[in-house]
Amino acid sequence: MGSISQARPLGVRGRHYHLSDTTIGGGFGYRDDIFPSRREALAAARERADWLGALTGCRVHPLAEAGRYLLTTGRPRDAGRIIELEECDDPECLEIAYGSVC
Ligand SMILES: [Zn+2]
Repeated sequence: MGSISQARPLGVRGRHYHLSDTTIGGGFGYRDDIFPSRREALAAARERADWLGALTGCRVHPLAEAGRYLLTTGRPRDAGRIIELEECDDPECLEIAYGSVC
């Protein structure tokens, strides 16, 4: 709760969400996508979780925080992976992701 406590009306354009996919203990398999709205990011996180679950045979466990998923194979040597959203205000991320398209 309170994660949007610093909402600034003029800063809305720069706000975006990163979707990351991290293999626990592996260091590989990390991806980072950017979404302009929380709704899109949440939908993408869910889609990613379902897709990865189907692809890898992992079980998908939604975590308490919206947009966060833990995927596990159930095998003791496989720690699994986490999909999560991160809110970000840095306009440079958008420039890097989309270039100066305007
Ligand atoms: Zn960012």
